Amino acid sequence: PPRLEVSGLRRAFGGRDVVADLTLTIAAGQVTCLLGPSGCGKSTTLRMIAGVEHPDGGTIRIDGQVMSDGSGRFLPPESRGVGLMFQDFALFPHLTVAQNVAFGLGGDRAARDRRVGELLERINLVGYGAKYPHELSGGEQQRVALARALAPRPRVMLMDEPFSGLDNRLRDGIRDTTLEVLKEEGTAVLLVTHEPDEALRMADEIALMRDGLIVQRGSPYNIYNAPADRAAAAFFSDINVIRGISKGALTETPFGSFLTPGHADGGAVEIVIRPQHLKIDFDRGGRGPNPTPQDGTPARGTVTRARYLGRESLVDFRMDFDGSILTASVPGVFMPRPGTVLWLMMRRDR
Ligand code: ADP
Repeated sequence: PPRLEVSGLRRAFGGRDVVADLTLTIAAGQVTCLLGPSGCGKSTTLRMIAGVEHPDGGTIRIDGQVMSDGSGRFLPPESRGVGLMFQDFALFPHLTVAQNVAFGLGGDRAARDRRVGELLERINLVGYGAKYPHELSGGEQQRVALARALAPRPRVMLMDEPFSGLDNRLRDGIRDTTLEVLKEEGTAVLLVTHEPDEALRMADEIALMRDGLIVQRGSPYNIYNAPADRAAAAFFSDINVIRGISKGALTETPFGSFLTPGHADGGAVEIVIRPQHLKIDFDRGGRGPNPTPQDGTPARGTVTRARYLGRESLVDFRMDFDGSILTASVPGVFMPRPGTVLWLMMRRDR
């Protein structure tokens, strides 16, 4: 069986379902990110799996063993074999690093020392065992918190926005270390976050959540490139929406025809494309743009604004065909003056 198996999970507050009918499985060594806007029910889900919140319905199993179900069976948190990590992880200030890591460990002294030594090595803090938390940087404290959560070898690790208290400069390094350690330990990880970049970076699988439900589950590639709907697309970046009319298996737009099977003839269809998948071309002294067959039909637009964001430039265009504004992203520096006329193309494979 999967390490963690959740099915039909429900919880209501004041008559309102905040977790509606949630189903999820995570294998050993796999990281699943529960991603969604604030208030969509992520923490409540995590708390029910941890056992600190009672579900109104549904089943939670770990390694096939029932943790809670609709008939009132309910294992307390300490019997679940679950590790927890939150944003405001608190180390015990009066205990050393080694004592903090050993805190939840039973067994004899030698076995405990061995486990602590192994974990300090994993988190690159060999030699820090006798220090106190206040002698460590925020990032180091975070790694100790991870080691402490992992020490009793939890079957499932639940993490709620564990990196949001750290400054940007530290965060990526800590994320990578955390991921390495979790993979080595073979723990099933459920990580709650509202940041799409964090989910893309950390997850084997992203479970995109909205209004108490998982609206899509898939790999980062799949979720980013084949979003279930417009809102799922918009959660990861700005999007452009191009309106067209369905005709047979195609939708006809000012950018040419696109294959969109399954729509009624004559129906209005919205095509969504990310700014970096719009292609820009020049007028070439009146000869016009030069599309490849992949590019569809070029449409003319006038630059209204260009912004340089470091890694990319964002250029807004007012389109000739209907006066709407579309945004294109270009890697590096591209800062055409407002009023410049350029051509946009929409890549069919996107
Ligand atoms: P998220 O983690 O996605 O931000 P939460 O699971 O914390 O969302 O909360 C989901 C919804 O449930 C929110 O509207 C929140 O106000 C509500 N909620 C959470 N806990 C309680 C509670 N103990 N009593 C009443 N409402 C709650």
